[in-house]
Amino acid sequence: MTKHYDYLSIGAGSGGIASANRAAIRGAKAAVIEAKAVGGTCVNVGCVPKKVMWYGAHIAEAIKYSSAYGFQLEQNGFDWATLVKNREAYIERIHGAYHRGFAGNQVEYIEGFAKFVGPNAVEVNGERITADHITIAVGGRPTIPAVPGAEHGIDSDGFFALTEQPKKAVVVGAGYIAVEIAGVLSALGTDTHLLVRQDRPLRSFDRDIIDTLMGLMERHGPTVHGFSEVKEVRKNDNGTLTVVTVNNEQLTDVDCLIWAIGREPATDKIGLEAAGVTTDEYGFIRTDKYQNTNVDGIYAVGDITGEAQLTPVAIKAGRMLAERLFNPEMPDAHMDYSLIPTIVFSHPAIGTVGLTEVEAVEQYGEEQVKVYKSGFAAMYNAITPYRELSHFKLVCVGEDEKVVGLHGIGEGMDEILQGFAVAIKMGATKADFDATVALHPTSAEEFVTMR
Ligand code: NDP
Repeated sequence: MTKHYDYLSIGAGSGGIASANRAAIRGAKAAVIEAKAVGGTCVNVGCVPKKVMWYGAHIAEAIKYSSAYGFQLEQNGFDWATLVKNREAYIERIHGAYHRGFAGNQVEYIEGFAKFVGPNAVEVNGERITADHITIAVGGRPTIPAVPGAEHGIDSDGFFALTEQPKKAVVVGAGYIAVEIAGVLSALGTDTHLLVRQDRPLRSFDRDIIDTLMGLMERHGPTVHGFSEVKEVRKNDNGTLTVVTVNNEQLTDVDCLIWAIGREPATDKIGLEAAGVTTDEYGFIRTDKYQNTNVDGIYAVGDITGEAQLTPVAIKAGRMLAERLFNPEMPDAHMDYSLIPTIVFSHPAIGTVGLTEVEAVEQYGEEQVKVYKSGFAAMYNAITPYRELSHFKLVCVGEDEKVVGLHGIGEGMDEILQGFAVAIKMGATKADFDATVALHPTSAEEFVTMR
């Protein structure tokens, strides 16, 4: 017997869950199909476990600073397994919350791998399911490079599966994941080497901010190796790895090699051809601003679209889609992909929204762009031997100095950014920032006191 739904999401990650719940709240008979764990990348092998590890690293840093604050602590080591156990228990609780949410909204949760067998039909566990509206929200998976010995390394999923702390780790890549994992490992005491194939990581970020990050990494770790593409990985008799770069640099005694060179879409096995859905050359399902694919009644949200691969983007896109389909009062609902704020959980965090200085000059011309900067030592560690420079920056354009970009690296930047992103989304000018009374003493006040 064929089951039929008004709305079906393939994939119970951030986008799939959000869209199915919203569809059900608006009265649709909805279901989600998931082959792995509920919550997708973010909850299981992404944002959530990463943030827990980052907090762990924060505690390691606080212990380092503690003696300057007068604490006399006796360090009895760090147990990686305890952190992992508590992290996974927390994730289990999130799974429970998702299932309670589905039950409350009457969304059916189906475990299994879905494959299209027609434009409005999938097969899962040998059963045929049809739906008026089907959303593809299957996300992506880490890319492994084609270098000899690559199989001796792990990816970010493997990082979260580690039950023991590596002694010496090599992290390859230059994006969010490489910087975040290398930062956590280094702060927790692993001898960590970050291999980037250009001069620096995070090249699309504002250069001043990454200059500051590079300075901090030089002082506190991880060790950054620039222009270091991996040529070969060798497994030694004692189980360790030797990582050889194109410059013939050899990193020896490596007990953990992590590939973090990007993610690819997981579209290859879901039978897109049976539905007639096309992909771009990389396998991403490109959509219009309403998340429509090339086939009527089939949509895509989240990482699979190749657009801003961030959890809150997938959630918003999924909810807007459900509103458009099932809420007669929102026939034009769609995700606005402009001015998306984003954080890299480095040490300290980097926050950014809008244009970098270089992008603003390209877009508006040099004479239209005015930049304000502030660099200072954060109070938190200024009284310790581990002084950390913060760097904040505003990019403004035109006579009214509209703020088109805000960037920062510093203690608390992860929490500072959200409110400023609202102001920028509303079109705030430098004068609006200046008219706001500062909060003292904070790092955030720098943004409203820049000259
Ligand atoms: P990214 O696509 O962000 O970065 C990967 C980078 O690795 C490339 O840009 C490239 O940088 C470098 N690279 C590519 N191929 C190679 C290679 N063969 N050898 C060495 N380096 C290489 O990928 P991530 O995996 O870090 O992240 C995927 C997505 O996940 C991101 O786009 C982000 O949106 C999301 N994410 C968000 C987080 C957050 O919000 N905090 C956290 C984690 C992920 P270059 O050209 O400079 O060499």
